[in-house]
Amino acid sequence: MKYIKKRVEPQELGHWKAQAKQQSVGVNYDFNNLPNPPKGIVQDSLIREQGYICCYCCQRIATDTSHIEHLNPQNPAIKNESDLDLCLDYKNMLASCGSGKDLPKHCGQKKGNQAIKVSPLQPKCEDFFSYTGSGKISPQADNTVQQQVDAAQQTIEILGLNDYDLQKGRTQALEFLRLKFPQGLTKTQLSKRAEKIRNLDAQEKYQPFWPAVSHYLKKLYAV
Ligand SMILES: [Zn+2]
Repeated sequence: MKYIKKRVEPQELGHWKAQAKQQSVGVNYDFNNLPNPPKGIVQDSLIREQGYICCYCCQRIATDTSHIEHLNPQNPAIKNESDLDLCLDYKNMLASCGSGKDLPKHCGQKKGNQAIKVSPLQPKCEDFFSYTGSGKISPQADNTVQQQVDAAQQTIEILGLNDYDLQKGRTQALEFLRLKFPQGLTKTQLSKRAEKIRNLDAQEKYQPFWPAVSHYLKKLYAV
């Protein structure tokens, strides 16, 4: 999980909400009624905001391999206006992996209407987790605050972050690092390469499985 700094909502969403709210709350003013183009614009904005990685597992996503996820779940039995507001609140929207019929058994799809205790909107969320060489995610081993360890464990389970495909993706990310960091590099070379890998690339994309990559960089190369 990587911290996501939310930007302002796209104007098109704001315009649609204002218009729909005026018409009839509960009929048009509902996330399920959000049409294109505003919906597509929102999704693309979320993907860019996240550097083209899933809000939870951090694998690479694009428009056709992601969907709009609600951090605070969309209540299936929506009753009042504040529930509708929450579902249409850009700050509550994230881009999660999987699309249409091709939804994975982890992340937003697995979470459903459950709440998670560690969220990608928490600036220090990355510190809750650590990764093994076989790609497994677990609560940060050095964490002495039991409540935080429990929160990390609950989040891993609800999001299914130890799914086979995700573990495989993290080990591939580790192999990528080994290629980028041959033996014999100086400390300065290591630091420069690590900085480049952690930053957005020329297409404004983060490295897939960024948190695991960042963890391995620290653990293996002390950078
Ligand atoms: Zn995901």
